[in-house]
Amino acid sequence: MAILRWLSRAPATPLILLSNREPYVHQRGPGGEVLVSRPAGGLTSALQPVMAAAGGTWIAWGHGSADFDVTDIGDTIGLPPEAPSYRLRRMRLSAEEVVGYYLETANRALWPLCHAQLPRFVYDAASWLAYRRVNERFAAAAIAEAKGRPATCWVQDYHLALVPGVLRRVRHLFVHQFWHIPWPAPDILRVLPNARALVRGLLGNHLLGFQTGLDVRNFLDSARRMFRDAVVEPARGLVRYRGRRTHVREFPISIDVATFAAQARAPETEAHARELRRRMVPAGGQLLLGVDRVDYTKGIPRRFAAFARLLAEHPELHGRVTLLQVGVPTRTDVPEYSAFEQEVADIAAEVNARFGRDGWLPVELVRESLDQATLTAYYRAADVCIVSPLQDGMNLVAKEYVACQQGRMGILVLSRFAGAARQLKEALLINPYDVGATAEALYRALTLPAEERERRSMALHHRVERHTIHDWMGDIFAEVDRLRPRT
Ligand code: UDP
Repeated sequence: MAILRWLSRAPATPLILLSNREPYVHQRGPGGEVLVSRPAGGLTSALQPVMAAAGGTWIAWGHGSADFDVTDIGDTIGLPPEAPSYRLRRMRLSAEEVVGYYLETANRALWPLCHAQLPRFVYDAASWLAYRRVNERFAAAAIAEAKGRPATCWVQDYHLALVPGVLRRVRHLFVHQFWHIPWPAPDILRVLPNARALVRGLLGNHLLGFQTGLDVRNFLDSARRMFRDAVVEPARGLVRYRGRRTHVREFPISIDVATFAAQARAPETEAHARELRRRMVPAGGQLLLGVDRVDYTKGIPRRFAAFARLLAEHPELHGRVTLLQVGVPTRTDVPEYSAFEQEVADIAAEVNARFGRDGWLPVELVRESLDQATLTAYYRAADVCIVSPLQDGMNLVAKEYVACQQGRMGILVLSRFAGAARQLKEALLINPYDVGATAEALYRALTLPAEERERRSMALHHRVERHTIHDWMGDIFAEVDRLRPRT
């Protein structure tokens, strides 16, 4: 595997990974016992084998109720629990830091800004200071872990934008970062009072990765417009600023295709998928699926409006199609999110009140997080999956749905504003703001001739298979390997 090839070439430089989320959480159970769990979500599990092979250090916020009951005096613990091969160093954040760094700056300022949702943007200068302080603490922890020796630091995402600026001052560190969410156009970025500090922080990286070419171009444009003394070479993806070079690259993230495909073929998945269909649609009917965290960037209200439009325009579909929407509650400690979750439930109830009739609920809303096996059965059961974010870095659900088709011919209706749309070109692409056109795309997806379903489904499947999460990591590490000797 490409990752292991890279690691075998670099035994002398330990890997230090920095992320907001930790790979394992320790919690107190009801009887006071310590329970360990792995948070849902692909990335931490995908990074796990890398850390296990590299034997490095992972630095993350320790937010579990028993996290610091199981760590040593330096707040570290060996992981994975069954056969420790790397160390997790947990950061202790005060209640005030959690508010300023995580809830306010990361979730209420940077998240809406980068997803171009300006009415949701909330800025607070004191919170920005807390964000900066926490970033400095993460950087100090990485420097301490390197112990004065060469190391490769891999920073994850928008929670830690100011870390690279600090790390770059330490000459023996190679610093790279992957920015998982979109990078906004420069005119949107200007809304953030600290935009220059944000970009300057990211220019601390030797290598900076984004999901799409558009993000790369937007970042290079931001650097050029903000700093007169920055030299930007778009053709080489290079920024030279105050004696430093930052290479900016596109690395579209993917999924563990083999794991999803194997799960999709399992007999128990098939049985579960059949049972779901029996429950949700009559024989010959069709099942539409949406799977999202209930985040305002995911476009769920407009999706429901498009589905209502479809039902209004096509009474022949009544009783024959159901929209199964998995809506996972998320960030419920941020005020906008709990209100939004209720809004989504209310809209689903309105659609059901308007069109539902005996024995048929047009929208089935599942308000909980499903495990991967259950989700795979949902993907197998659905004739059409609709992924309609207003803006999304990549969107893994789109790729997972495709990977799970395995002989089925499910159709993907996909927002042009998801990073995945740049690769999954055989999906039916939509502008999620255009409710009428989305309703038409849904109708088309439901009525597509079998040959076209097959052609689109097969083509998408090949695209997803050709570029997996392992290729993503291999590409990043190959670039690190190429750049590191020169820095
Ligand atoms: N997911 C899950 N259980 C659920 C719903 C979603 O495990 O009930 C996972 C899903 O498989 C995917 C991730 O959550 O891997 C969502 O990633 P995506 O890129 O689509 O959106 P994000 O939530 O990261 O914005």
